Amino acid sequence: MGNDGGSIPDRRDLVRTKAKAEQADKANQTRARWFFCALSKRRLEEPIVACPLGRLFNKDALLEFLLDRASYGADGAAVAGHIRSLKDVKELKLTANPATKGKGKGRGEGENEETPKFVCPLTFKEMNGAQPFAYLAPCGCVFSLSGLKSLSSAKEKEPGKEGSTTPEKDEEQLELCPQCGAKYSKSTDIIPLNPSPDDESLLRARMEAKRAAEPKKSKKRKAADPESSDPPKKKKSSPTAAPTVNPNIAATSRAVVTSLALEEAKRKAGMSDAVKSLYGDPSKPKQKETFTTMGTFTRYA
Ligand SMILES: [Zn+2]
Repeated sequence: MGNDGGSIPDRRDLVRTKAKAEQADKANQTRARWFFCALSKRRLEEPIVACPLGRLFNKDALLEFLLDRASYGADGAAVAGHIRSLKDVKELKLTANPATKGKGKGRGEGENEETPKFVCPLTFKEMNGAQPFAYLAPCGCVFSLSGLKSLSSAKEKEPGKEGSTTPEKDEEQLELCPQCGAKYSKSTDIIPLNPSPDDESLLRARMEAKRAAEPKKSKKRKAADPESSDPPKKKKSSPTAAPTVNPNIAATSRAVVTSLALEEAKRKAGMSDAVKSLYGDPSKPKQKETFTTMGTFTRYA
């Protein structure tokens, strides 16, 4: 089928090429995710950090982003918007690929870049996206998932000291990192690197749940100080203080009113009948009503 006029492109031809393009795209994406910083898109160079969603960053690029969240534009917010500070990421302890060490000098740079820099310290599988890898949240050590699983399953098979414990207790028990000995939880501390979309949504849900639980405590302490101390004070003060303030005001105003009334009475008592007739006599309301008389009266009084 050489496009010589006699061939009509079949559906399969079109779909196949599309599928090939998609495959190539996927391969590129995989390579990009495992070899390049998710933020800067530069080649991953240690120190490398990973976020709770298993994304890989060059630490310097992430620092740049944290200092200026606009530094990588909209892409930065999409890729690392969930990272609030360096506390949210873990610096990874990676195992260098022996292949890059030995052959690196003799190879051309282009070839060398194709070689995965890191391997699983348990299985020596290369970290290139073909195998699922994960890091341990407490220590940042990176292993292939198969390596971790083979370890834990080997442990389970061992009828050792902890053999009598039930499977439930085994899950609750903290495992020890095979590389550095740090304790980690098998259920929550194994963070897959560059996870599948399903795994990522799980990780995101876990991250949000964790943040809703943990930082709320600290946030509550911080925010609750103003919230729990101030607003309750306001709440307490508004019902209690308002009545206390108001009676004070009422009392003082009442006192003022009564003193004024007394003065008025004294004045009235001392007033001549003529003046009284001007001001207080209800039989002459017209004079009382006039603004000028009232004004002159008060001025004279
Ligand atoms: Zn470790």
